[in-house]
Amino acid sequence: MDFSTYIRDIEDFPKPGVVFKDITPLLKDPKVFQKASDALLGFTSNMQIDKVVGVDSRGFIFAPLLASRLGAGFVPVRKSGKLPFKTLSESYALEYGEDTLEMHTDAILKGEKVLVHDDVLATGGTASAVCKLVEKLGGEVVQCNFLIELTFLNGADKLNGYPIKALLQY
Ligand code: IMP
Repeated sequence: MDFSTYIRDIEDFPKPGVVFKDITPLLKDPKVFQKASDALLGFTSNMQIDKVVGVDSRGFIFAPLLASRLGAGFVPVRKSGKLPFKTLSESYALEYGEDTLEMHTDAILKGEKVLVHDDVLATGGTASAVCKLVEKLGGEVVQCNFLIELTFLNGADKLNGYPIKALLQY
């Protein structure tokens, strides 16, 4: 299936000069939504996964589905101040300033195999911060997967050494 037909470019969102990849056309079509989750699941066939980490907020769409179908647990990574229990945090640089992501300190056990999922890999700052959180808790990132990789932003360079998969590359 050509998933690209179901990704909409929104110019100048969220700010001028940015072309935002909008995944909602893919989500709202029941067959395409199902096929996209099947395809993401196919990236980890025959792999042992203990936890699927989803990134706030569009990572929360597929990560719990994948976790459930893999027989794994789901772990949310959230923007700072949103998680109620004790957290670990990791900051990363944005174009202007920085952002902080948090994970509960008991979310992952030492030695657990972890799949990291988000909707889009852009500059890689978000996903690399998430991988650091997983590793601080002793987890092993066995794959980072995405619906979309914006290859021209070279996010893969920040995820050096982690296997990366994406349904679509631009
Ligand atoms: P990065 O940290 O630059 O790799 O940006 C990735 C994060 O920004 C992800 O959590 C995405 O949800 C979000 N993001 C960046 N660009 C887009 C886009 O074009 N569409 C949807 N989300 C995006």
